[in-house]
Amino acid sequence: MESLMRNAFLFLSKNRTANRTAKKYGLRFGAKRFVAGEQISEAITAVRELNDRGIVVTLDHLGEFISTTDEAVESMKYCIRTLDEIASSGVKANLSLKLTQLGLDISRALCLSNMRSILEAASRYDNFVRIDMEDYAHNEASIDLFCQLREEFGSTIGLVIQAYLYKSEEDIAMLHRYRPNLRLVKGAYKEPPEVAFPKKEDVDTNYIRIIEQHLTNGDYAAIATHDDNIINSVKTFVKKNNIPLSQFEFQMLYGIRTQAQQQLADEGYTMRVYVPYGDDWYGYFMRRLAERPANVGFVLKSMFKS
Ligand SMILES: Cc1cc2nc3c(=O)[nH]c(=O)nc-3n(C[C@H](O)[C@H](O)[C@H](O)COP(=O)(O)OP(=O)(O)OC[C@H]3O[C@@H](n4cnc5c(N)ncnc54)[C@H](O)[C@@H]3O)c2cc1C
Repeated sequence: MESLMRNAFLFLSKNRTANRTAKKYGLRFGAKRFVAGEQISEAITAVRELNDRGIVVTLDHLGEFISTTDEAVESMKYCIRTLDEIASSGVKANLSLKLTQLGLDISRALCLSNMRSILEAASRYDNFVRIDMEDYAHNEASIDLFCQLREEFGSTIGLVIQAYLYKSEEDIAMLHRYRPNLRLVKGAYKEPPEVAFPKKEDVDTNYIRIIEQHLTNGDYAAIATHDDNIINSVKTFVKKNNIPLSQFEFQMLYGIRTQAQQQLADEGYTMRVYVPYGDDWYGYFMRRLAERPANVGFVLKSMFKS
């Protein structure tokens, strides 16, 4: 039943009509639990509240399904505006973005040009931009673009690697030459068994394997998970191998396991929360429901409230 619901939500996450309708009606159906707001001002307020509790942030101006050059350029401007607002408000936050939001499906040249504009702004502010990893169809192109931009912009840019893909261990070995700052995650999309581990326990085992591989390489890791088993295994590994606290951080999503977020921050670990904002919240929200169909309870409650 759970896997049926998971597949249904992942299917819905790609539905363009539902996405358009969701945009029209604004943050509804419990999405407010996972999305800080539609406006940048609401996002900055959420960041400030987290910063006050010792938690840093990565801000994401939500966007997917874009299909025109104008939309990609508009999205690039939103990313720069987010960096501007972070700088002017003085909050502790960097930026996460998706390459399809910047035109990857239209042309590589357009996406590259948008990324360069964003990275120039980030470099000016001495800030950092991370490319989220999307579905497998965009994996190679994302890695290629990252490598090119890493040569141009150095440590201003980071990438995400997904533990559910068989190829990730090899990717990390290849990327080591760039000394990359990688966010390591389990993976949020629906992928076929030809490219990804179908069983959760295999994903978990590979997750621990690639975390240890990347930390042993001496490279910076953002370990993005809500899973206590993984978090505890990282804590034990870093202690045993004298990995300094400055070489890694934990990350979680806005609205998920907020007490655990606070506890890790209080224990002295860098805790960064991924805070999404904007009106294009639909696909992001559906993926969160897919991860935990129990969240549907919140959706039903909020439907009856409104
Ligand atoms: C900061 C951050 C950035 C991410 N970036 C990407 C990315 O770029 N690309 C990508 O493919 N994936 C990304 N993900 C998603 C990731 O791949 C997983 O889908 C997601 O984190 C769930 O896996 P988990 O590691 O938390 O473990 P799971 O085994 O899925 O969950 C462990 C426990 O966490 C809790 N939990 C997990 N998800 C939820 C939820 N939605 N609601 C409530 N409780 C929950 C539950 O208690 C669950 O038992 C990101 C995740 C985080 C935290």
